[in-house]
Amino acid sequence: MMWPTLKCPFCGSLLPNRQYKARTALTCPGCSEPLRLARWYLHLTSAIALGLTFAICLLIGLGGLWLFAATLLLWFPVAVAWNYLFGLMFPPRFERYPTGAPGANTSSDKRS
Ligand SMILES: [Zn+2]
Repeated sequence: MMWPTLKCPFCGSLLPNRQYKARTALTCPGCSEPLRLARWYLHLTSAIALGLTFAICLLIGLGGLWLFAATLLLWFPVAVAWNYLFGLMFPPRFERYPTGAPGANTSSDKRS
């Protein structure tokens, strides 16, 4: 899998693409800053993927409850493919990983 070039927002060092995982911290090889994908970037890509899934289900003629169920089922595979394409067009943005925050290493973005 080929990923776009990722750069540290603090020092501009190239980040190791192969270690890149959306939900985990990544340490910059240049400045040792803990980084993660910017939350707004993740929210933006999943929102677009949801809209895209909905549009696909409409296009294949689903309606009512089936439209709803199919959108939920297809959202994840569409999001995976879409995140890849989106990442090629708009390289992911990083932000400082919030160390010391409660539940920082697990699903901390569940709280809304
Ligand atoms: Zn850096």
